[in-house]
Amino acid sequence: MKKPFISLDTAKKICREYPTPFHIYDETGIRENMRRVREAFSWNPGFTEYFAVKALPNPEILRILMEEGAGFDCSSMTELMLARAVGDGKEKIMFSSNETPAEEYAFADKINAIINLDDITHIDYLDNVLGTLPETLSLRYNPGGVYTLSNGIMDNPGDAKYGMTKEQLFEALKILAGKGVKRFGIHAFLASNTVTNDYYPKLAGELFELAVEAKEKTGVALNFINLSGGVGIAYRPDQENNDIAVIGDGVRKAYESILVPAGMGDVDIYTEMGRFMTGPYGALVTTAIHEKHIYKEYIGVDACAVNLMRPAMYGAYHHITVLGKEDEPCDHKYDIVGSLCENNDKFAIDRMLPRIEKGDILYIHDTGAHGFSMGYNYNGKLWSSELLLETDGNVKLIRRAETPMDYFSTLDVLPVFDKLKELSLPE
Ligand SMILES: *Cc1c(COP(=O)(O)O)cnc(C)c1O
Repeated sequence: MKKPFISLDTAKKICREYPTPFHIYDETGIRENMRRVREAFSWNPGFTEYFAVKALPNPEILRILMEEGAGFDCSSMTELMLARAVGDGKEKIMFSSNETPAEEYAFADKINAIINLDDITHIDYLDNVLGTLPETLSLRYNPGGVYTLSNGIMDNPGDAKYGMTKEQLFEALKILAGKGVKRFGIHAFLASNTVTNDYYPKLAGELFELAVEAKEKTGVALNFINLSGGVGIAYRPDQENNDIAVIGDGVRKAYESILVPAGMGDVDIYTEMGRFMTGPYGALVTTAIHEKHIYKEYIGVDACAVNLMRPAMYGAYHHITVLGKEDEPCDHKYDIVGSLCENNDKFAIDRMLPRIEKGDILYIHDTGAHGFSMGYNYNGKLWSSELLLETDGNVKLIRRAETPMDYFSTLDVLPVFDKLKELSLPE
C-alpha cells in the first residue's frame, strides 16, 4: 500500500495557511534516500550523484541534497544559475545539455561545470566559444538499436537525438587528447523510469567494456563514467520499488570484473538521478470542488494538468489517496479531472476510490520529480506554491503561488499593462 507522508489533520492545518493546490516535499525522505544512495556506492571513493535539477528545481531542495553530498546536473542556463546560487563555489556541477547555445557553454565553463558534449561536432563549436577547451570533458554515448532489460523494459536509443556513435566517441577522445584535454568521462542515458535493479548494472557493464576498448584503441584512460538517470520509482501500488543497495552492488560487480582487471580500478562512478532522488518524496495536494454525473462519474479538483502534466502527457499513473479515507473501501469509479479546456486533463481515469465528497482533500502521490517543474500556464492558469515538510515537522513555504501580476509581468511593454495592474490588485 502506498502511504501519504501527511495525514488529513496535517493537510487541513496546512490548508488554513496555504490554500490548495500545492506540491509538498518531505525533507526526511529526501535526506534518508540520498544517504542510501551514497552508502550503495561507497565502495567507489569518487562516487558522486549529480542531482538532475530539472526534476525538482527548487533551491531549498537543492540545498538539502547538497548538504547530503550531491552535486547538480543541469540542462540549461537557468539551472546552472540555480546550482551556482545554491552552491558555495565548491559545488559540483555537470552540464548534460543538448542543442546547447554558445552563451550556455560559456557560462557553464565560467562556473567550472563539467561539460558533457552531446556530439562530436560540438568539439569545434565549444572550442570556438571558449578559445581553449576545459581540462575536463565528458562525452555522451548512444549505442543505437533497441534497449531491452530482463523484465522487458525497452527504450529506443536508435531513435533518440542524444549522444554520439561508438566510432565518433573514439574519434572525439583522440581529438580532445590532441587538443590538450586532461580528464575524460563518458555518459549514457538509455532507458527511462526503469523499475528493475538490473538497469544500472547492465548499463555499467556496457560502459565499462566501452571504456576498456577506448583505452586500447585511443590510449585515453577515462577518469569517470556517468550512468546518468533512468532509475525509476514504483508509481503503481503493485510495483516493487528499486533497491539502491542491490543496484550499487550490481555496479560494483561489473566494475570488479571488467575495469579492475583492465587496470582501470581508479575510475569514478557518477550518477545523475532525478526521479529516484525526489519523486516519491513529493505530493500534489488538491481539493475536490465539484462532482458531476453524466455518462461517467467525475470529480473536479482545484489542481489541473498545469500542476502535474505527466498523466495528460504520457498517460502516466499517479496513485491517489483521499486523505482521511485511507481505510474505506474503494467502491466508486471516478475520473479525477482538472479545469483545463482539454479533455486529457485527467489525473485518473476509471479509478476505484472511496466515495468522494466536495471538500475532500486528495493526495496525488509521487510528484516530487518532473511534477511541478513540468508546469505551464495554459488557460492562464497560475503556478502553485511549493511547501517543504521539514524534518522537525514544521511546514515551510519554499515557493509562493504565482499571482496574476506575475503572469502579466512580461506584458509591461504594452499600455494595457497599467489596467491589468489595477484589475489584479488584491481587494
Ligand atoms: C532527465 C535527465 C536525467 C534525470 O533522469 P531521471 O529519469 O529523472 O533520473 C539525468 N540526466 C540527463 C541528461 C537527463 O536528461
